[in-house]
Amino acid sequence: MRHQRCESKPMSKIGWSLKYDKCTDCGTTDMPHIGHGLCRHCYHRQRYIKLSANRERTDKGDIIRQITREYLIREYKEKGKSLQDIANDVKCTRQYMHSLMKSFGVKRRSRSEARSLALSAGKLGKRTA
Ligand SMILES: [Zn+2]
Repeated sequence: MRHQRCESKPMSKIGWSLKYDKCTDCGTTDMPHIGHGLCRHCYHRQRYIKLSANRERTDKGDIIRQITREYLIREYKEKGKSLQDIANDVKCTRQYMHSLMKSFGVKRRSRSEARSLALSAGKLGKRTA
């Protein structure tokens, strides 16, 4: 078998793509159209820019993926940490931890349990003069 080059057929009357007659970014018609009016080169570049713009979000997502049910149970139940403590540890909000606990089906401490735990941890002790 010989190597066959895929010759790009001239899409004569349609133009570069269905909607665009050239790359909306660099103006080339040499590169094939990929999408959104962008040639292959620009498309991947924009994709890269987009990805790096979302970097912060991705990092957060990575952290959150580290929070397993086991992790929550260990920190919350065994170590007696509060949701706020855990949220501080993993750098997210207490509200998020709450919804995570819910989705993992981890039962939260009752108010009195939380209070006695906080008392024993010395958290509320400073208030009493
Ligand atoms: Zn381009």
